[in-house]
Formats: sequence, structure tokens, C-alpha cells
Amino acid sequence: MSNFNWCHGPTCHEQHTQDRIRGVKGSKVLRTRKLRENHYNQRSIWGYFCSMGCYNDFAKEHMADIIAIAPRTEALETPIEVTKEQVQYGYRDGTYTSTRITTVDNNGG
Ligand SMILES: [Zn+2]
Repeated sequence: MSNFNWCHGPTCHEQHTQDRIRGVKGSKVLRTRKLRENHYNQRSIWGYFCSMGCYNDFAKEHMADIIAIAPRTEALETPIEVTKEQVQYGYRDGTYTSTRITTVDNNGG
């Protein structure tokens, strides 16, 4: 059982950083970053991607497959209540309108 993953970024091994350099003089390579599993990256994207850039590159390259996992064919909606109230501020008669959005729980409660 492995306790690490290789970064899944498609061009991770092409980024010019010193920590990716491996090999001896004359046969050096840039290698994909190794991600050790730990308490912080377990079950998160950081267990599989070394950076936001690698995560975005992966998503861009595999967009059609990712969407196919859970396609959204219609909009989702969250029931809300919108209230507006005049709020006074300062020593003079300054007021502004405050808009408050409250989520409404329609499923009992
Ligand atoms: Zn990476």
C-alpha cells in the first residue's frame, strides 16, 4: 500500500523548479512531484495535485470526462427570503438600504 501519490498535473514534470530535478550530471530530468499522504491532504485535492496550476491543467485536459461523472442538466435553486431595511449611520441623517438574504428551510423544522 502506497502512502504517496504522484501529482496528476499533466505538465507538472515540465515546470522549471529545482525540487523537480533528479538524476546525475549528464542525464538529469525534471520529475513529477511526489505527494506524501498526511493528515492535511488526506481526501483533498492536495493529496493529488501539488499546486492550483496542476489542478487547473488536469481539469482543463479532462473537462468532458469530469462533467460526465455528474452532469448538471437543470439549474439548482435555494429558497430564500429577501428583506430590505434602512440603516442609519453617522451623526448626520445618513441612511443606506441594507439587503439581507436568508436561506429558507422548506423541509420542516
Ligand atoms: Zn504538480
